[in-house]
Amino acid sequence: MSRVVTVEGLRKVFRLEGGGRLVAVAGVSFGIDRGEVLGLIGESGSGKSTVGRCLAGLLTPDGGAVTWGEDRVRAGSLFREFPGLWPAAGAQGEDRVRVGMVFQEPRDSVNRRFQVWEAVADPLIARGMRRGPRLAARVEETAALVGLDRSHLLLDCGGLPEELLQRASIARALIIEPTLLILDEPTTALDPDARAGVLELIRRLRGSSSTAILLISHDLAAIRSVTERVAIMYLGKIVERGPTDRLFVDPLHPYTRALIESALDLDPSTPMAPVELSGEIPSPMDRPPGCPLEPRCPWSIAGCAEAEPPEEDFGADHSVSCIRAGEFAAGLRG
Ligand code: ADP
Ligand code: MG
Repeated sequence: MSRVVTVEGLRKVFRLEGGGRLVAVAGVSFGIDRGEVLGLIGESGSGKSTVGRCLAGLLTPDGGAVTWGEDRVRAGSLFREFPGLWPAAGAQGEDRVRVGMVFQEPRDSVNRRFQVWEAVADPLIARGMRRGPRLAARVEETAALVGLDRSHLLLDCGGLPEELLQRASIARALIIEPTLLILDEPTTALDPDARAGVLELIRRLRGSSSTAILLISHDLAAIRSVTERVAIMYLGKIVERGPTDRLFVDPLHPYTRALIESALDLDPSTPMAPVELSGEIPSPMDRPPGCPLEPRCPWSIAGCAEAEPPEEDFGADHSVSCIRAGEFAAGLRG
């Protein structure tokens, strides 16, 4: 496996009108390998899209470092000094990093006035490729990857059913042969049949392409069905990460348990009681000083509010940021 991208300590702070500071991403680290799908889960507002937008070059991070293959880029000013690394900032070089991004609403990715082929071809045309047989072949090839055939290519995007439109927006992201494909809630706006179709497509891409995929979603069942590793975000931080199979069966962080509990049935024989979180997710403008979950966590103890919990390794690539995780693990496995 070769590592496509390594993110270390990524931070993004939004400065609000009126002087407030909103810490949307508060130090996030992860890596994705070629051919792998990493799932990023979390409630609305936890900072998932901001992570994706930073990686796509649509936002400038305030801290941290991103390594593309071997090329290390520090966040902050260097992101501005190397706009060529960021396709969204107008990179031309074919050997540079390319990031394809698909948004929740296919209508945000695709110009409705385009025919499907134009929408798919557009990123290559924008990169200076001339119209002609070579472009047409690339469009047909990429369309086939996402299950669109020649008859679809002449349809107008404006009248296209949602699923086909989302497929077109995935093709549009794939046509640049991205180093990293970011899918931000790609199934959220779709009806159940369309959702199943797009998930099947992601599964197929995983098996057949060398692209690394970051799948952002709060659809846990979707994440479970197409990823091999997941990271759980809460209030700008990753609180737990690990292999998908393990995390969905033996989650250790109270937040992961609450999240999975509310979406899927946890095995009732596990000794930890179901987690009910009290209150609402705190505002990222007013982050608690210790563990971000502390104000809502039924299992919090005195130390939780004092300092941010370090990430603790539980083997097999599973790690958790909770000072009680060791106790929980002993309870589950003892
Ligand atoms: P998620 O994708 O997990 O729902 P986001 O990354 O969209 O979360 O947002 C994280 C936090 O950052 C939220 O509190 C959101 O309101 C805030 N936020 C996102 N984009 C902006 C922006 N452009 N300006 C100010 N605040 C923003
Ligand atoms: Mg989002």
